[in-house]
Amino acid sequence: MVRVIDPIELVAPDIEPYRHGNTGIEHVGSITADEPGPHVLVNALMHGNELCGAVALDFLVRHGIRPRRGRLTLSFCNVAAYATFDPRSPAASRYVDEDMNRVWSPAVLDSPRDSAELRRARQLRPLFESADFLLDLHSMQNPTAPLMLCGRTSRGERLARAVGFPAWIVADGGHASGRRLIDHGRFADPDGDAIALLAECGQHWRRDTGPVAVETTLRFLLATGCIDAADAAPWLPGGERPDPCLVEVTDTVTVGSDAFTFSEPYLGMEIIPAAGTVIASDGGRPVRTPYDDCILIMPSRRLSRGQTAVRLGRLRP
Ligand SMILES: [Zn+2]
Repeated sequence: MVRVIDPIELVAPDIEPYRHGNTGIEHVGSITADEPGPHVLVNALMHGNELCGAVALDFLVRHGIRPRRGRLTLSFCNVAAYATFDPRSPAASRYVDEDMNRVWSPAVLDSPRDSAELRRARQLRPLFESADFLLDLHSMQNPTAPLMLCGRTSRGERLARAVGFPAWIVADGGHASGRRLIDHGRFADPDGDAIALLAECGQHWRRDTGPVAVETTLRFLLATGCIDAADAAPWLPGGERPDPCLVEVTDTVTVGSDAFTFSEPYLGMEIIPAAGTVIASDGGRPVRTPYDDCILIMPSRRLSRGQTAVRLGRLRP
């Protein structure tokens, strides 16, 4: 396996000025417009090492972006993990005790179990549950094309298409190791109307990832009616974006042994032409692609038992 050295090009913004917001919850601020409208929430730092979300929220505040209608809430999520961010060991600040994006089910949130992430998740839960539209900003281990994860609902897909950026939309159901925020409660209810999207804006620390998070957020605020075109126009690149492509996730490969290795140093979004191609070995057992033109989505470098190794998908025509 090729060892990838990741340069740290993004600067972690100082979020201390946002500690005392106006919601009674530290590092959460909310503005309500005079005109009625939905509650739109943008969440950053679910993972403490994913700087782009903090860059985007800091951008919105600095540039005076306010809701035209409804309510806009900006939340810095795992601030305890973010506080430990160290450019010399950048991956170490992903979480304090556990992955905060695997705890979003009532069975876990209502359990007596305790961790730094669960305490913060329980604090934020009522706020997240009150959002009509939620954007959760993330970044990836590998420098692959940005993705918008829309869950399994048709309304999630519609909103991702309306946002129109990132151009790759991935429809998936999450991970075996625990539920994500976008799959929590009303967001994943087939009969519900709330929608949560998860943007993977690029590699964690690459320069380009910050502007991708900003553009994604502005386009999300536009698509949800929170702001008007004139509010976003000065900050959006000119020209049309290409129409998005949707990849349907069909399989999640979960690590089943203590010796999982990929056959190639995959970065993600590779299209494997032939069904049956061996893409990995899991404790000596070959992992094969199930069909022709299989797309590899977010191959992980954290290959421990029970974790997602890679998701497999195909382009929806
Ligand atoms: Zn993340």
